Amino acid sequence: MKAAVLYKKHDLRIENLPMPVPAGNQVLIKTAFCGVCGTDVHLFNGDEGSVKMTPMTIPGHELSGINMLTNEKVVVDPNYYCGKCEECLAGRPHYCRNMKNTGVNSNGGFADYLVAEQSQIHVLPTGITLEEACFLEPISCCLHGLNKIMIDKNDHVLIIGGGTIGLLMLQLSIFLGASRTAVVELVNSKRDLALVLGADEVYEDVSEIRNHKFNKVIECIGLKKTCEDAISICANTGHVLLFGLTEPEETISIRPFDLFKRDLTVTSSYINPYTIEEAIKVMSTGKIRTAPLIGQILPLENLEEVLKDSKLRQDGKVLIKLN
Ligand SMILES: [Zn+2]
Ligand SMILES: [Zn+2]
Repeated sequence: MKAAVLYKKHDLRIENLPMPVPAGNQVLIKTAFCGVCGTDVHLFNGDEGSVKMTPMTIPGHELSGINMLTNEKVVVDPNYYCGKCEECLAGRPHYCRNMKNTGVNSNGGFADYLVAEQSQIHVLPTGITLEEACFLEPISCCLHGLNKIMIDKNDHVLIIGGGTIGLLMLQLSIFLGASRTAVVELVNSKRDLALVLGADEVYEDVSEIRNHKFNKVIECIGLKKTCEDAISICANTGHVLLFGLTEPEETISIRPFDLFKRDLTVTSSYINPYTIEEAIKVMSTGKIRTAPLIGQILPLENLEEVLKDSKLRQDGKVLIKLN
């Protein structure tokens, strides 16, 4: 089978490998599509994502495919939890002592086939296509974050960053009932898309926001300035969700006195415990549009180029088509 192996930083090779053989409770999956995520770019550049990359691993964690045992269309939750360790039993499966991460420390979706544990595999309802299914993992991560800031009908939500994650956060906030939504985004075309997807307002920069008060602010870029903006723009008693992945060593300035005076809650969220089934349910309603978020669909041979050249990623999420 054809696979893209990340040997080390900046060394990705397309190779012909033997078919993986499932062991124990594993199942063989024939990959259909695998999304290229910002995390893959971080890993390609030698940076840490949610966990450290194991050298010589096949990346790719936003994937859909066919379960070769049952012939069903499936999505693979890239995070495997054992369900038995202390952390799993305490309701913190994302800190599982025996966790395996598909596409980071076990072989992922940038290959014609992969093996996954049975518990990672979720059958797609008929309404969800294999292309759309690549968005289930990012949506599940967004839902975990949104669950922490509890969006409801009284909320005015501001999303900083109109990339794939920002535009998913926008649609999910609307789905969860937010009464008003706005997106801050530098790129014109993405601001337009945010409006098409239901944003009430768009801004080029946070400094343009004058009289409006947003009590839920979601940062989806991961830069020092945008994290600080998210905190400074949030209304009194509001919640800030720092969701964008920053460089591991990045720091931001916070004045605790300022948080105190404004009664703010600043939070973050790590991966997707328990939310992949929730993501499937939300997507099944047809209320989350993913087709406009797809930039290009490309063969595996183009993966390296996509990881290297941010221009190829600027028109939306790139999906790699396998098989
Ligand atoms: Zn991802
Ligand atoms: Zn565990």
